[in-house]
Amino acid sequence: NNHVVLVSACLLGQPVRYDGQSKVADLSCLVNKDITLVAICPECAGSLPTPRVPCEIEKDMTAGDILAGQAKIKNADGIDCTQQYVEGSRFCLRMAQQHRAHHAILKEKSPACGTHMVYDGQFNGTLKSGRGVTAELLHQNGIKLFNENQCEELLAQLEKS
Ligand code: SF4
Repeated sequence: NNHVVLVSACLLGQPVRYDGQSKVADLSCLVNKDITLVAICPECAGSLPTPRVPCEIEKDMTAGDILAGQAKIKNADGIDCTQQYVEGSRFCLRMAQQHRAHHAILKEKSPACGTHMVYDGQFNGTLKSGRGVTAELLHQNGIKLFNENQCEELLAQLEKS
């Protein structure tokens, strides 16, 4: 049976990252299987421009706090981009629901897409455990998350389900 997987658009070569580049990943293990890949870029969906000043989740706060309205995500110039991230995340959740996607493979370390690690809000390159805002919303809605290095693990899950 066909599975639908959401994929961060930058991993598929779309030049949508903050620096106007892509970050192509080897997702070849998902090719020639009965899998439909649906590209999403939550930062674009939230109407942020490309290229853009990079954002980080406020120090000591989580993506869950942002979705609960208790924290902000700001760019390196201090501009509040919380609303764009929340709206972009909701758009991606609707995409998942419309396509009946139960799995996503997302770009690690992004403030939207990170599945295990994000930058810690100090804009000095320090990482911490945690999810990006969109990854968190998808997770809260039962979607299983993988990063770009977990292609084989995702495939194993799909073959079981
Ligand atoms: Fe890639 Fe996600 Fe960042 Fe868009 S928001 S550029 S899909 S990591």
